Amino acid sequence: MYYGRCACGQVKATISGEPVAVRQCWCRQCQQIAAGGPTNNAMFREQDVRFSGELASHDHVAASGNVLTRSFCPNCGTPVVAQSSARPQFRTMRLGFLEPGHGLSPRMAIWTADAPEWARIDPALESHEGQPPAPTTPAR
Ligand SMILES: [Zn+2]
Ligand SMILES: [Zn+2]
Repeated sequence: MYYGRCACGQVKATISGEPVAVRQCWCRQCQQIAAGGPTNNAMFREQDVRFSGELASHDHVAASGNVLTRSFCPNCGTPVVAQSSARPQFRTMRLGFLEPGHGLSPRMAIWTADAPEWARIDPALESHEGQPPAPTTPAR
């Protein structure tokens, strides 16, 4: 079981399953919401995630060409979750939203071609210059 909570506590989530992927994304849009660095995300199955509290959302066309819906707390702005039009079966939860102690860490770095020149990307991570293949098997 994983738990999420925004900075002000208005938005919470409980997640009952294991992630299908844990990834770090360096795309331009992620840098814009992550203060210049990458976003760190755990992709869960849609049916495993339950939210409480009101979310605000914004849609944009991602570097992949898919419509990405980013959701955040309208009160404190904490990034909470993203959802791709190409993969409605998954919820991409921001690791910063998850309560400490979750034990998850990125296993893959994606859109590394967009990373700033000062970025230090762990060479141990599976790395993709752009969009990786869709996850198929459970992974931590
Ligand atoms: Zn909040
Ligand atoms: Zn991204």
